[in-house]
Amino acid sequence: MAKRVVILGAGFGGLELSTILSDELGEDADVTLIDKGDAFVFGYSKLDLMFGRKTPEAVRLPYSDFAKPGVRLIHETITAIDPEGRRVSTDGGEYEADILVVALGADYDLEATPGLAEGGNEFYSVAGAERLRDLIPGFTEGRAVVGVCGAPFKCPPAPSEAALLLHDHLSERGARDACEITLLMPLPSPVPPSPQTSEALLTAFAERGIEFVPGARITSLDAGRGVVLLEHGSEVPYDLFLGVPKHRAPDVVLASGMAEDGYIPVESRTLKTRFPGVYAVGDVATVGVPKAGVFSEGAARVVAAEVLADLARGDQPAGYDGLGSCYIEFGAGRVGRVDVDFLSGPKPTGTFQAPSSALVAEKENFGSSRRARWFGR
Ligand SMILES: Cc1cc2nc3c(=O)[nH]c(=O)nc-3n(C[C@H](O)[C@H](O)[C@H](O)COP(=O)(O)OP(=O)(O)OC[C@H]3O[C@@H](n4cnc5c(N)ncnc54)[C@H](O)[C@@H]3O)c2cc1C
Repeated sequence: MAKRVVILGAGFGGLELSTILSDELGEDADVTLIDKGDAFVFGYSKLDLMFGRKTPEAVRLPYSDFAKPGVRLIHETITAIDPEGRRVSTDGGEYEADILVVALGADYDLEATPGLAEGGNEFYSVAGAERLRDLIPGFTEGRAVVGVCGAPFKCPPAPSEAALLLHDHLSERGARDACEITLLMPLPSPVPPSPQTSEALLTAFAERGIEFVPGARITSLDAGRGVVLLEHGSEVPYDLFLGVPKHRAPDVVLASGMAEDGYIPVESRTLKTRFPGVYAVGDVATVGVPKAGVFSEGAARVVAAEVLADLARGDQPAGYDGLGSCYIEFGAGRVGRVDVDFLSGPKPTGTFQAPSSALVAEKENFGSSRRARWFGR
């Protein structure tokens, strides 16, 4: 009899895992994939939305297009997870699993940064990016602050990309000379595992007059005075704040007792939690890799291989390698790439590929290949 695989979350991890199981098992698969949303949106599309480069309709991939043999995609909100019993409650029913995979991503905690919700804006959600798309055209003078409110955060290069794309946007409107751009980052450099990538970004910032403040710990925003408050009492004035909110695991995960220090601990090579038959992949887990789709997807591939081995349909995988490549928008229509290796050596390493038009096409292919594979279009 087929094992009942229940996958929580149809993001990068959940989509890849269920696609592989469907490809390999077809109608023999017994996969239930649950998500509260009605469409998938690539993380980087939020930058396209924020700068008006794409419309919301163009970046939405409706789950109604996700049709895979052996996979039931359920549009419900998960309200409770019992990892010991491998049982899941939603606003529409109850599900029991032989193999349970938690791929619920990371949520945003705006309240953790007082003043952010009232006096700032965030560009890490679709709604936040859309709000900024409407605000940015009205910003014609003063200081824009791109501020990261806490680590870990998704896609470490994204705030740097936002600062560079904002530079382009203001330049195209002839407003750049009247504006300053500051990037406040809690990390010591833009992309710590790759000094070469960080150096290239710092050079790009210097060429464009973008101020980069490493190690900046934002404690709150005072909208009345228009200042960002940092740890140790310093202040940074702002007229437009483009924020990356603090992240945390979704409430339903925190309430399940699976999380420690905010996220679900897993054995990095196997993605197994301490609960038998329960895995966690992607941003919701502490794997030892950054929070990025490409890592969620890589981890999902390992879990897929483990599930198939468990069903005697394949060999045990070698283990998750923690390798991933991220594309970085440098502005002026150019894209660079960083290849990072988080698990094979004593410390993470990364190599950099300078921005080029070939990499623009490669990034485009990264998105279109997944769109075709998951959504058939
Ligand atoms: C601006 C920006 C740029 C980015 N750029 C890149 C990039 O270039 N490359 C890259 O690899 N990554 C990038 N990322 C990061 C990437 O989007 C995430 O790391 C990735 O989506 C994580 O995948 P996941 O499967 O772990 O979680 P997610 O893709 O977040 O999926 C989690 C799913 O769980 C669902 N869910 C959550 N709670 C519940 C619930 N209670 N009930 C039901 N469903 C629920 C959500 O609706 C969601 O669909 C970027 C992110 C941002 C914000």
